[in-house]
Amino acid sequence: MWKPGVRAREHPFTFRRIPTVFRLFIDKEGALRRLIIIRMIIPLLIIPLLSPAAAPDFDTFFIPKTLRVDIYHAGNAVEEWITLDQIYEIQGWAGTRRHLLDPFNNGQYRLSVVDAASNTTIYTRGYSTLFGEYQTTGPALEGVRRTFHETLLIPCPKRPVYVRIHGRDRQNLLKHLVTFTIDPKSIDIIQEPSAGDRVVKVRYQGDPAEHVDVVFVAEGYTEKEFGKFKKDLNRFADALFSMEPYREYEKRFNLWGVFRASAQSGVDEPRKQVFRNTAVNASFNAFHLERYLLTEDNRTVKDLALQAPCDAVCVMVNSPRYGGGGIYNHYAVFTSDHSLSEPVFLHEFGHSFAGLADEYFSSEVTYNDFYPAGVEPLEPNITALLDPSHVKWFEYLTPGLEIPTDWGKDGIARIRSERDSLGKAMESDLREHARVDDEERSAIRMRYEARLDSMREAERETEEAIRIRLAGKVGVFEGAGYSATGLYRPEIDCLMKGNSRREFCRVCREAIRRMIDYYSR
Ligand SMILES: [Zn+2]
Repeated sequence: MWKPGVRAREHPFTFRRIPTVFRLFIDKEGALRRLIIIRMIIPLLIIPLLSPAAAPDFDTFFIPKTLRVDIYHAGNAVEEWITLDQIYEIQGWAGTRRHLLDPFNNGQYRLSVVDAASNTTIYTRGYSTLFGEYQTTGPALEGVRRTFHETLLIPCPKRPVYVRIHGRDRQNLLKHLVTFTIDPKSIDIIQEPSAGDRVVKVRYQGDPAEHVDVVFVAEGYTEKEFGKFKKDLNRFADALFSMEPYREYEKRFNLWGVFRASAQSGVDEPRKQVFRNTAVNASFNAFHLERYLLTEDNRTVKDLALQAPCDAVCVMVNSPRYGGGGIYNHYAVFTSDHSLSEPVFLHEFGHSFAGLADEYFSSEVTYNDFYPAGVEPLEPNITALLDPSHVKWFEYLTPGLEIPTDWGKDGIARIRSERDSLGKAMESDLREHARVDDEERSAIRMRYEARLDSMREAERETEEAIRIRLAGKVGVFEGAGYSATGLYRPEIDCLMKGNSRREFCRVCREAIRRMIDYYSR
C-alpha cells in the first residue's frame, strides 16, 4: 500500500513516497472515484464483514490439494476489471483446514468460495494487491490503465464452486467485483509437474497443514551464489526467531527456500540506470518511489514459491541497498545485505503476514487519502479512535493511562520546528554574506551549528526521556499511518514505527500471534 510524503528521518521504513502535488490530486480525484465506482457497479451486493455462519468442514467440501487461480487485475483509479488467466491444480494444501472462513477483517479484497450446489460459503480469505496501490498513484489518477497479475490460492473443492471477489469502497464496505464458476473436474485445469527448481528446507517442524509455511524465493542470486542464498536463509530464519512472538512460536513454523539461478547478480535500480536479468524481476523505485522494492512478475514468484508448501511468500533480494515492501497476503520483499536488512524484513513481513499498518508518520502530514477521515482503518494496530470509550485494543491498555495518551508530541514538534527555523535563518544569513571571505562565513556557520547541535541534543534527550517513561505501556498515541493527527498507535515505539525499538508493540505481537494460530491450530 502506498503512502503520502513523509520526511526521510522520520520514516526508516518508508519505501512509499508521493509528492505533495499528488496528495492534493488524490483528494480531488478520490471524490470522483467514489462517484464513478458507485455508478458503475450498481446493483451492488454489500456483504457483512464477518460472516457468522458455522465453519464448514474441510473434508466435506475439499480434498487436500491447492487450486491456484491466476487472474489479471486491470484498470486505473476509477475503473477496475478482473479476468481469469489460468487455473492450476497443485499437490497438497498448506493452509488451514479448521478456519475456512477468514476470522480477520484485513485486506482491501476478499475472496469467497461458494459451493454451487448448496450455495454455502465454504472458504474466505482477505488480501491486498499491487493493483490497489497502483490506483493511488499519479498515472492511475490521470486515467492510465495498467494490468497486474494476481494469484488466488484455495483448497481444491470436490464439486463445482463460485469464486467471488469483493473489493472495499472508501468506507471499507465490501462490494462485489467478479464471480468465476470453477468445475474442479474441468480439463482446463492445468496439472503440470513443478518446474524442478531447488527447494531448501531451512527449518522443518512438521506437517505443513498444521504449521505456518514461509517460503523465501531467491532473487538476484547467480548459480555461483547458491551457497550465499543458503547462508542468507539461515541468517533471516535466526532473525525471525529472535523476535517475539515468533521466538515463542518457533515450533509452529516451517521455513523453505526456493532457488532459481538469476543470470545476473543484484536487482534493478532504474533511477541509477542499473538493470539486471534476474529470476523474478524485482525492482527498486516501484511506483517511482525511491526505496520501494517490489516485483510485478507475480506469475514467476508463484511458480517458484508454490514448489514448497506455502502460506506466506518472501522474496529475498541479493542486494546491499536499503529497501523493501510488503503487501498483505501477497508477499514481503526485502534485501539481504544492508545493515538494517533484518529489521526491514521483520517490518515488511509484519505487513504481508499479519496485515499490520505502518505506525510511522510525518509531523507535516495531518491528513492523507490513504486513510480517509472518519473511517476506522482495517489494520489491527492503528485506530482513528472514533469512539474513545471503545478502544480497538482495549484488552491490552495499561490501566491508568489517559486516552488519548499524552506523549509530549507537541513539545517535540515545537523543538523540531524551532530547529528548522534556525536552519533556515542560517541559510539566509549565509546568503546575505555571500561576498564576505570564507573565514567570516565559516564563523557564521559555526555559531549557528553550535546552537543547532544543542537543540538536536535537547530533542534527543526529550525523546529518550519520553521513551523511558512510556516504554512498554499500551495506550492510544496520536501519530500513525503517515498522519500526525487523527490516527493513533498503541505504544510509543514499535518495529512497525521505526528502528528505535527492535521489537513489536504488544498489539502487533498479539495480531501476529492470532495469525500464527490461524495457520497452525
Ligand atoms: Zn505495533
